[in-house]
Formats: sequence, C-alpha cells, structure tokens
Amino acid sequence: MSPDVDCPDTDCVVIGAGFGGIYAIHRLREAGFTVRAFEAGSDVGGVWFWNRYPGARCDVPSLSYQYSFSAELDRDWNWSERFAPQPEIQRYARFVAERLDVLPAITFDTRVTAAAWDEELTGWRVVTDTGTTVTCRYLVSAVGALSAAQTPPFPGLADFAGQALHTSQWPEDGVDLAGRRVAVIGTGSSGIQAVPEIARTAASVTVFQRTANFSLPAQNRPLTDDELRAAEAGYADRRAATFTTRAGHVIPTTGKRILEVSPEERRAELERAWERGGNEFLATFVDTGKDLEANRLLADFVRDKIRSIVSDPVTAEKLTPRDHPIGSKRICVDTAYYEAFNAPHVDVVDLRDEPIETFTATGLRTAAAEYAFDTVVFATGFDALTGALTRIDIRGTGGRSLADEWAPGAQTYLGLAVPGFPNLFTLTGPGSPSVLVTVVIAIEQHVDFVTDHLLHLREHGLTRSEAEPEARDRWTEQVQATTQLTLHRHAPSSWYLGTNVPGKPRLFLPYAGGLDAYRRICDEVAADGYRGFAMTGARAEVAS
Ligand code: NAP
Repeated sequence: MSPDVDCPDTDCVVIGAGFGGIYAIHRLREAGFTVRAFEAGSDVGGVWFWNRYPGARCDVPSLSYQYSFSAELDRDWNWSERFAPQPEIQRYARFVAERLDVLPAITFDTRVTAAAWDEELTGWRVVTDTGTTVTCRYLVSAVGALSAAQTPPFPGLADFAGQALHTSQWPEDGVDLAGRRVAVIGTGSSGIQAVPEIARTAASVTVFQRTANFSLPAQNRPLTDDELRAAEAGYADRRAATFTTRAGHVIPTTGKRILEVSPEERRAELERAWERGGNEFLATFVDTGKDLEANRLLADFVRDKIRSIVSDPVTAEKLTPRDHPIGSKRICVDTAYYEAFNAPHVDVVDLRDEPIETFTATGLRTAAAEYAFDTVVFATGFDALTGALTRIDIRGTGGRSLADEWAPGAQTYLGLAVPGFPNLFTLTGPGSPSVLVTVVIAIEQHVDFVTDHLLHLREHGLTRSEAEPEARDRWTEQVQATTQLTLHRHAPSSWYLGTNVPGKPRLFLPYAGGLDAYRRICDEVAADGYRGFAMTGARAEVAS
C-alpha cells in the first residue's frame, strides 16, 4: 500500500475562485476541512475576472448581487451604482476573499486539467496545467455555469488577418478600439452591453445578428446614500428573502394578470416598469411567464418600444424579436442598445437573410455581401452549465469520463452529484436553479448543502458519497417536468437548451422550479439522511 492510501493530501480541492469558490473555501474551512483551491485566472472573481468587455455589468440589481450570509460583509460594502460595472464586482469578490482570508488557500494562474477517482484512496487525484498533482477526498467544482467560452467554428477564421476577441476573454489591459472598424457577432447579453460602448469610439460597428433578442433598459444610475442606508437596515429582510423567493431576492410585481387589466392599465403599469428599468419588468404581471397570450401582450409592448427608439424602420424590424416568447431565452438588460443603431456608423446585418459563408483575410463574406473590418468581437457566449466541467478530463469509477457520461445530455442528482463520480460535487451544476436565479444566492445554498453533507459523512465515520442512478433518473424527470410548466419550452434555441453549441444535445439544463422550492427539496433530502446518496466508509475502514 502506498503511504497515501487512506490519507489524501487535503480533504477538499475546490476548482475555481469565483463567487462559488470563495464561499466554498470559507465554509469548508470553517467546518474543519482542509482545502486547496486552483484558479486559472490571476485573481478571484471567476466570470467577473474574465468578462472585461466594454460595458460589462451585472443585470441583477447590485444590492441583490452579493452574498447574504454575513451582516458584517453586507454592512461594510457599498455599491456605487444600481447595476455595478465589472471592475467593481471583481473588487467586491476581492474584498470578500480578503475579509474571509481565503486567498492563502488558492493557487492562481493554475488550471485544473484532469481529475481521476482513486478507489484505493477513496479520493481524487487532481492534475493541473502547471504539473501539480494533489490528492483529495472531496472534489468541489466551482467552475461556473457561464465560463467556457464558445467561438463557433466559422469557415476561414484562421485566414482572418485582423484582431479577434471574445467578450469573455477580454485582454486584462483593455483594447483600444478607437477609430477601428469593428464587427460584433452575437446579440445576447454580452453583445448587447458591448455594442453601445464600442460604438463610442470605433469608426464603425457592424453587428451580425442571428436572432433578434429582447432587451430591456437598465435605467442604471448611482445609488444614493439613502438607498444604501435603507439597504443596510433591510439586511435581515433581504437575507430572509433568499429562503422564500423563487429568484433569491424580492422582485416587485403588481400581482395582477395582464389578461385581466384594461389596455390603459396595462400600458400604464408597463410604462412605469420600463422607466424603473431592469429585468424586473418581466414580473410586472404574474401571468406573462406562463401563458402565451399574456406573454404576447408583454412582448408587443417591447416590440413597440423598439420601433419607437430605432429611427430607421428597416433597422427596427431587423432588431425586433419574433421567434420566441419574451423571457423564454435569457432576457438582456442594456444601456442605450437600440439607440446605438441611430448613429450612422452602427449597423446590423441579419444573418437569417444572409448567413455567414466564410471569414476572409479582411473580414467576412455572407450569402449577400463582403464586409471588411479590423476587429471582430465574438459575443457568441458559452458552452453553458456543462462546458467548464467537460473540458476537464474527469474520470470516475472504472475510468468513465464525465464528458462521455454527459454526451447524451447532462443528468445529475440535484444538479450536484453524478452516479459513477463519488465525492464530486458540482456547484450550480446542470439540474440546479443556478442561472435562472440570483446565482450568488444559488451558490450559497449549494455550498451550505455540500458542507452539511460532508459534516454528516464525517459525523457518521463515512468517507464516500455517490449519487444513486435511480435518484438521478427521478431528478432528471422532475427537472424536465418542471420546464414544461414554463414558457422556456417555446424557445426554438437557447443556451439553456445547449443548442448554441454544435453537437450538444437539446436538453433544458437548469431546474426551473425556483430557488425556494429547490431549497425545500434539498432540505428534505438532508433531513432524510441524504436520501439518494449511497454513503459508505473508506475501503480501509470497511475492511478493518
Ligand atoms: P449568448 O446569450 O449565448 O449569446 C450569444 C450570441 O451569439 C447569440 O446572439 C447567438 O445567436 C450568437 N451566436 C452564437 N453562435 C453563432 C453563430 N454560429 N453565428 C452567429 N451568431 C451566433 O451569450 P452571452 O451574450 O455571452 O450571454 C450568455 C449569458 O451570460 C447571458 O444570457 C447571461 O446569463 C450571462 N451574462 C450576463 C451578463 C450580465 O449580468 N449583465 C452579461 C453578459 C452575460 P442565437 O441567439 O441565434 O443563438
């Protein structure tokens, strides 16, 4: 027997030092586990470290986009704006990491490339791109749901002689786009936030749009001292809301059904919500997320807004979404996106009319025309929810690969565990609420669940926990059944479904039942002795 047979180097390895990694290190250490973390970036922040494109900011109000577990942290951090910009969110992550003293546990500039389950060890062997190998009993993935950048394999891309950027891998020192001819491919949240900012200085911006998206005005502004004081005083209520709300925070609503109010009242309420700004607009009426006709009334209001903002009717029509219910794909929140197209140097190309045929040395060619530019910005999104994990060579029992396991569609138990991959916990993984709720709150709930689970194992002298296949199958059915209650199923494509990645099977990945319901389920699972997890002692302990 090798000396480490029943003694891994550390109790836990955490992959990633974004919001999930920071809190996981903190909670696990607090519970008495030893922890090592690896982070590919040179600082904490995760997606907020990498996503530095011009205009990047959160689209959930900053006051809700923060940890809820500590009144002291809450008191000692003040956001400057209603929707904080990327540098400030990263500073917040750094502030929390320093306050919790988690930095010494993190090895930066180091990417985990492989992890293999070792039955003898009852643990994982984790390998990094710097050649480190570390063994651990528990492997906690905090890789993020939207962190594996996706650049479509456009023909001829290698021939393009200009500058190519991806919104989520923006150079740390920034990029000067002044006077440059810029192409932006993609009109999701990233593209829609970046276009107006790039247009400020670029000579021209040509937006290549495959699907017109719904976007709502952020109506961003500085937070006032009164608002900050009220937020501090309301900490307890905000904390309570993380347990009782679908989204992890309170979203204002009229509580009325759009189908039951008069056209005048409908318009007045929607105008008020539009002026208030942000994605809370979607919750103005309670039936628009469930009923297609109700949804159409909401969407029509936004379509009218686009027509009223964009001066050129042909451009307005191109920018008007018609192929999916509003909210069935992730809603975008912008600052002067539609307005940007009123400038003479900003244009949109509808790729439904003229698909991209190939990149060339000087730009790209569509079915209808040649376009020349100096810089192309890929705002083409992510291999969401699974990509960051399947890009690591993770091998479970018998050497089975997680990428192969998920190739037909990612299935998990509670979004947290996968049969055949003992002692691996996937924070905000596929099958959990993650991207459909305030993700920081989803992270807290997951980390708390995993920490409590590991404490349960320790208290019972157990060292191995593996999701049962039947529990995974039942949970997968529940995730898919829950989706049927929403309008998400009417979106022909979206990254929720994986259809943005060539070859990825079409399967709705997040759990759509709300964080409150999900938390109750997890609490019941825990109260029932972690139902659905097969838990045993270490091989050595069992044998003795
Ligand atoms: P995204 O929503 O997936 O958008 C990608 C865009 O690229 C879509 O318009 C897509 O068109 C287009 N695209 C993909 N492949 C293409 C191809 N082969 N040819 C032409 N167009 C193509 O990605 P994202 O904008 O980076 O946003 C992803 C998520 O990250 C957001 O939904 C949000 O959850 C999060 N995010 C949040 C913020 C924030 O908090 N403010 C900011 C950025 C991102 P189709 O629609 O036709 O697929």
